[in-house]
Amino acid sequence: MLLAFDALALSEMLKQEVSLGKIIHGDNHATLNVKTSSLGREVRQHIAKIDALLSSPSPPNLVLIPHCAECEFQTQCRRKALQNNDLSLLSGMTEKERKKLHDKGIFTVTQLSYTFRPRRRPKGICDKREKYRHSLRALAIRQNKIHIVGNPKITIEGTPVYLDVEGLPDRDFYYLIGVRVGDCDPAVQYGLWADSVEDERKIWNEFIGLLANITDPVLIHYGGYETMFLKRMGDRYGVPPAESRVTKAIKNRSTSSQSSSHRFTSPHSQTGSKILAIFWARHGRVL
Ligand code: SF4
Repeated sequence: MLLAFDALALSEMLKQEVSLGKIIHGDNHATLNVKTSSLGREVRQHIAKIDALLSSPSPPNLVLIPHCAECEFQTQCRRKALQNNDLSLLSGMTEKERKKLHDKGIFTVTQLSYTFRPRRRPKGICDKREKYRHSLRALAIRQNKIHIVGNPKITIEGTPVYLDVEGLPDRDFYYLIGVRVGDCDPAVQYGLWADSVEDERKIWNEFIGLLANITDPVLIHYGGYETMFLKRMGDRYGVPPAESRVTKAIKNRSTSSQSSSHRFTSPHSQTGSKILAIFWARHGRVL
């Protein structure tokens, strides 16, 4: 969109249509051709909206959106949203859901928290995962407590190995593998760092070596990011033979989101939830 905007500005200056742009990206300077002329209408619509906002005497309503994570004003906007106790603090809520609540006179997280009512579930659907409810998340924030819906049970036969991976998706590069082995206190933890893309193979091999030295490792992680990591790294750098304990552990891993029918609701951000979900997986009890 930014490229289309630049093309439009250039067209206006040169009095000549600029219909094609190029984006050069990545370490290998790959080139992507973009037909900017096909985005011209959309760019003009955005310009009209910005124009209306700028000519308005009052600032627009503050709504936190996924893009805030990359925005330079993130700290100020988040502070303001916290002051207002705004519903957009509930990151999973869509604009449509927010509007529906506004129509009912609910504008703040605290107001929403008072609408939560625990429901008794019919016996036949007890094993099914319960629907996510924003009101429960709001309650978790108001009380600063973690709630788990359902009766979580987890059985780990072997040594639990908790996995948390960080990477740069736009560079298709994983730079950190975090591993915690067992439930001892203090825990045995490893942070395998790759300083460059070339080091990625090294940390993958270190990780495989670590797993190979653990008795009956059972990999536990949160959600799909680590699943994708294991698949990509296996394809990229290989895994030991299928009958090895390492490959079995990778194949039979479990995620905190698939391990039972419970739902985990935390007052914290997604990262907080991630850590706490793993914490829950370790202890298997209601906090
Ligand atoms: S941080 Fe503020 S200015 Fe930036 S995208 Fe979010 S709401 Fe908009």
